[in-house]
Amino acid sequence: MKKISILGSTGSIGTQTLDIVAHDPERYKVVGLSAGTNVDLIIEQAKRFKPVLVSLATKEAADAARPHMPPGTRTVYGEEGLIEAAAGTDADIVVTAIVGSRGLPATLAAIEAGKTIGLANKETLVTAGHIVMDRARQHGVSVLPIDSEHSAIFQCLNGENRHSIKQITLTASGGSFRDRTREQLEGVTVAEALNHPNWSMGAKITIDSATMVNKGLEVIEARWLFDVTYDQIDVIIHPESIIHSYVEFADHSIIAQLGLPDMRVPIQYALSYPERNATPTGRLNLAQIGKLNFREMDFARYPCLRLAFECGRQGQSAPAVFNAANEVAVARFLKGEITFLDIERILETVVGRHEASDINDLQMIAEVDAWARQLAESV
Ligand code: NDP
Repeated sequence: MKKISILGSTGSIGTQTLDIVAHDPERYKVVGLSAGTNVDLIIEQAKRFKPVLVSLATKEAADAARPHMPPGTRTVYGEEGLIEAAAGTDADIVVTAIVGSRGLPATLAAIEAGKTIGLANKETLVTAGHIVMDRARQHGVSVLPIDSEHSAIFQCLNGENRHSIKQITLTASGGSFRDRTREQLEGVTVAEALNHPNWSMGAKITIDSATMVNKGLEVIEARWLFDVTYDQIDVIIHPESIIHSYVEFADHSIIAQLGLPDMRVPIQYALSYPERNATPTGRLNLAQIGKLNFREMDFARYPCLRLAFECGRQGQSAPAVFNAANEVAVARFLKGEITFLDIERILETVVGRHEASDINDLQMIAEVDAWARQLAESV
């Protein structure tokens, strides 16, 4: 039986992870759950899955939840609580499904405790890919991707020699506004941006998909997960989200991974790896779909993706700054403070004013992250 702790259990990835667990209680046991402030849902989850530990973001939320917890479940809170959920249980695997670079200290703590990482929280790798992957190597810990594109590539690389990779291609649905011109993006609403055509996801990643920042974060994530150069990473638009990504090898053979757009498949693969288990999802019928479409990525239409590649290539603190500025810009857009196109203006401004420097520890990361957030708030 695999023991699992989920950071961000009340979110889109968190609830789908619990769906997989509920489908196969003989195979999986939840030992840790953590969330922000969604007290009602975490109480319901704790009653159902009976973890030994529950962590919430604030003392108020923990105090509200504690009296309703089942016997044997301890309730903690704050940054320390999150770290305890990551590293302080006997979980075999920690699913990192919280949003943003705030997931970084907990991910590192889980690695240091020897936990396998089921990585959904891509912002941690964007912010500190070199630190996370070095730490994982030092502790002999596997970082298993949950992002569907990276899970696809991970599966395509099964049994292959990494040196024979010619190119990794990430597929992109194009997000909520894929059929609009840049002129048609003026004045789009938050509700329109949140209406993703293929995937049902949390708010931040849905906006990131519309700006194509999400694909940019994934490019940087792929660079670290698969130890490839940026020249080896390509992005193509594939509106149906059936081919989740593919790898071209030295002999020009291409291996792709296909499936319906349902995150429970890559979540299950990370949980069951190296086995494959049944998932409670639909089956892909290609004859029914009929045809799949592809078009070249248009970097002028999606300038945030170009900027992400530039920050990735620049390295050092640039990706952390890009990520932090984006987290703030998306939050401001969701609050109605700025327009959709302001997101990219903020990113251009913050990245443009930043002089990249080496970042070798969490303190340095915290400093550039805070600098970028402050500027992004004031632009
Ligand atoms: P959601 O917004 O749906 O969920 C975020 C989760 O984080 C919630 O459980 C939330 O709790 C929790 N949380 C917020 N603040 C804290 C905190 N301080 N401490 C602990 N937990 C906290 O996000 P998604 O599930 O969409 O995304 C999660 C990550 O996975 C992101 O990095 C995203 O990029 C990545 N990802 C998501 C995909 C998807 O399909 N959704 C696909 C691929 C990657 P609360 O409910 O209490 O606020």
